[in-house]
Amino acid sequence: MNRNSPFSYVCNACGRCCHDKVITLSPYDVLRIARTRRITTAEAIARYTIRRGSILKFTDHGACIALEGVRCGMHRGRPLACRLYPLGIERIDDSSDEQFVKLEPATGSLSVYGDQAAVEDFLAEQQVAPHLDANARYGSLLPKFRERIDAIVDFDLVEPREFRRRAIREALAESGYDPNAIIDAIFDSDSVGCARDDDAATVSAHLAVLSTMICDERYPETLAAAAVLLAVSLGYSPSEAMR
Ligand code: SF4
Repeated sequence: MNRNSPFSYVCNACGRCCHDKVITLSPYDVLRIARTRRITTAEAIARYTIRRGSILKFTDHGACIALEGVRCGMHRGRPLACRLYPLGIERIDDSSDEQFVKLEPATGSLSVYGDQAAVEDFLAEQQVAPHLDANARYGSLLPKFRERIDAIVDFDLVEPREFRRRAIREALAESGYDPNAIIDAIFDSDSVGCARDDDAATVSAHLAVLSTMICDERYPETLAAAAVLLAVSLGYSPSEAMR
């Protein structure tokens, strides 16, 4: 489906779609959660996420940690995946090309799918534009990661597939991972001094800090794991981090 495809969706607030999901968070999602809850990004990571800020936390009973009864406790700052639901975005590579897919309704869902409007209308209603814009800006870091890795790794001596495999394993580990200051900085913009009055300015400051960190980093493993986690958090495949 593209933006002109027929699509409509009526949410009947049953809360079923807020259970039993794996919801990937971007750096901008974490920022929006923090601002909506009036906490720092470090507190947002600790309270609402797992895997270093990159996945929304769910309880042992399968409910999103932000669910209050059948209502979202952070509706204004809900992540992009929640805004898009029941649509998902598919990307082939790090171009801006996008395709939308319709996701299956959650078991017992009271929501109603239809075709009375277009995908574009649904996206506008859910206010996804700031999220997509911010994600595109963070995506501009991926080529910087690739350039820096290529500059400091001699792939005649290091086996590229094994290097990638190790990076993916490290980035996607939910525990027991190595300290990684770049990953910490990717999700915790406040702790690296990027808090500004508005979100777009925060993202600008954050991108500048992250760019400097990437250029200064001397350990390829640190760069590679951070690149993979950023790529995944933005909805790309891990291989987009290192081609
Ligand atoms: S953040 Fe809100 S909308 Fe998203 S899964 Fe949690 S409760 Fe549901």
